[in-house]
Amino acid sequence: MKYFLAIIGGGPAGYTAAEKASKAGKDVVLFEQNAVGGTCLNVGCIPTKSLLYGAKQYYNATHAQKYGVTAENVAFDFAAMQKRKTIVVRKLVAGIKQRLNNEHCTLVSGAAAVVSRTDELVTVSCNGETYEAENLLICTGSTNFVPPIPGIKENEYVWDSTDALAATELPKSIIIVGGGVIGMEFATLYHELGVPVTVIEAMPTILPNLDQDIVNVLLEKYKKAGINILTSTKVESIEGGKVNVKSQISNDQLQISAERILVSVGRRANLQGLEALNDLELNRGAIIVDEFMKTNLPNVYACGDVTGKIMLAHVAARQAEVMVGRLLKQIPLQRIAYNAIPSVVYTNPEIASVGITEQQAAELNIEAEVRQLPMTFSGRFMAENEGETGLCKLVLDTKKQTILGVHCIGNPCSEFIAAASFAVRMGYTTAEFEQVVFPHPTVSEILHEII
Ligand code: NAD
Repeated sequence: MKYFLAIIGGGPAGYTAAEKASKAGKDVVLFEQNAVGGTCLNVGCIPTKSLLYGAKQYYNATHAQKYGVTAENVAFDFAAMQKRKTIVVRKLVAGIKQRLNNEHCTLVSGAAAVVSRTDELVTVSCNGETYEAENLLICTGSTNFVPPIPGIKENEYVWDSTDALAATELPKSIIIVGGGVIGMEFATLYHELGVPVTVIEAMPTILPNLDQDIVNVLLEKYKKAGINILTSTKVESIEGGKVNVKSQISNDQLQISAERILVSVGRRANLQGLEALNDLELNRGAIIVDEFMKTNLPNVYACGDVTGKIMLAHVAARQAEVMVGRLLKQIPLQRIAYNAIPSVVYTNPEIASVGITEQQAAELNIEAEVRQLPMTFSGRFMAENEGETGLCKLVLDTKKQTILGVHCIGNPCSEFIAAASFAVRMGYTTAEFEQVVFPHPTVSEILHEII
């Protein structure tokens, strides 16, 4: 049998493409070596959020006095939190399998590799069988990057995020190398469960790509809460559970130790199984694609982390929708609005943003007006966030008054950032966005207040 589309990798990019193409009546074969759902569902977003939610319940119970509630003998069971996480993941994996269950979709469990390619036919092998398809979609994702730090490899004290998610016991103390998204989410998890945390970040700030006024609200709270955050600090070497660091400012050297060292310094595209595509064009180890996710090879496409664009599950899924739309010649053709991709960091308080920051506007020489308000302008925020401040920033094109970016810190901003994404995506002016009515009382009203 010749398939219309062979897809390698069943994460958010791969399963979205498989569902969309097969439901349009095209024969699709999808190869996945682990469980469908990819990094996000199995060892990323979903398990992290499940554990973070458990930690937040414990933290809130132990910090409820400010709301007039006292709870005694509050305890948590980490093994039970892990068990619940596994059940959540298992149910969602089953849900994805259900979505792919149709006569045009074949799911093959195993590690696939491209055998050969012509402009008419791609041959893929998996578990000793060969499969032929007119088109190939690569959705092989990414893996944790291991930096070249002496002592990091084969060190039983060193974890990556997958090890941390699998652990059945909490470490007694932890050093987190990399104050990016993964690092700060795990810092939140461990801190809320009472584990002493040290974060080591090479750049002058944590979460360097986010608006720095927003990040400073988090930094202030976390430092006050006792999380040890060392910025402008580089790891020189690791010896067992000891980390030798050097300040980039003072050149001072320090040795810190902990029961575990979590390394979260970024991820790299996974190109295994693609060796036969030796003329596939790459940029810094990621597959180059055009606006419709097409590579330099006529019938080969790539979506998700492997393209090295924005490593987020919702970007991967949207890329897959656009790619299949193009392949099926759906009219009108759609493109991805990379300028309007929302992102969330699940710290406590959480951070949500879309579009450009004030700092990026300056770098791009965009004449931008910035408006900002504390989250306390929202009645619901005041009612539910005792002792918290929070911040919302709006970046506008000065002349056109169009909304270029929105950046928030304060719970639960992840739940309303989509409204801001809509405004950025549609190129709304403040006058247009002002006509949108937000329900009262909700924290989302901050978007109306700030206009
Ligand atoms: P990241 O790029 O977000 O952060 C890595 C951090 O490590 C950076 O701040 C960098 O300056 C720092 N760093 C690099 N080398 C270092 C060194 N030797 N010593 C100290 N610090 C060093 O990468 P990540 O946190 O590993 O996340 C990987 C990807 O997964 C990202 O693209 C992220 O967006 C995605 N992700 C998203 C979410 C979410 O959307 N909520 C959650 C987790 C991961």
